[in-house]
Amino acid sequence: MKYYILFGPPGAGKGTQAAKLVEKYNLLHISTGDLLREEIKKGTPLGKEAAALIEKGNLVPDAVVEGMIKEQFASCGDIRGFILDGFPRTTAQAEHLDAIVAEAGGEVTAVISIMIPDLVVKERIRHRALIEGRKDDTSDEIIETRIKNYHAKTEPVIAYYNTKGKYHEIGGVGQVEQIFADICKVIDRK
Ligand code: ADP
Repeated sequence: MKYYILFGPPGAGKGTQAAKLVEKYNLLHISTGDLLREEIKKGTPLGKEAAALIEKGNLVPDAVVEGMIKEQFASCGDIRGFILDGFPRTTAQAEHLDAIVAEAGGEVTAVISIMIPDLVVKERIRHRALIEGRKDDTSDEIIETRIKNYHAKTEPVIAYYNTKGKYHEIGGVGQVEQIFADICKVIDRK
């Protein structure tokens, strides 16, 4: 089983690229953001807890998303592997992921980071707010909090995988097709 991680700040285009990768490589896309939004829509207790945090731009507790990931791994069909999007978002989550993947006899294949500057993050999210209507996309203050959380809590995941030789970075400003081609170059080698 392949375990690819799509990494990058909010609005980097992880969801867009993941959808294309699923088609090309027969992977299962696991987006913790999408899974959390499903829980919110269904109004589950977990969804209610998550909504309060997400709407302020904060992360949900590690244990919550870790549980979701484990469930997704268990329910896979005939696939070549997984493409993780929005997870791991803290080094604790990365350590946990490594442990559950090792339990399944595998290892993280590659971390592919789509990099865009903070200014572009803001532009993209403001634009997406008009299309998708996500509550956490609507206010500048919430977007600032998400960017701050990304730098403080998520960015350390880069060093974690870099020391393991699994980290690959590509530029995320440009044409969707060009960025996709750059990601494919990494995947084709791994
Ligand atoms: P984006 O990539 O635009 O930040 P996501 O859909 O990945 O959007 O995530 C939306 C929100 O869901 C995050 O701001 C965070 O509150 C929560 N979330 C998603 N994944 C995780 C995670 N792995 N750990 C903690 N919180 C998460």
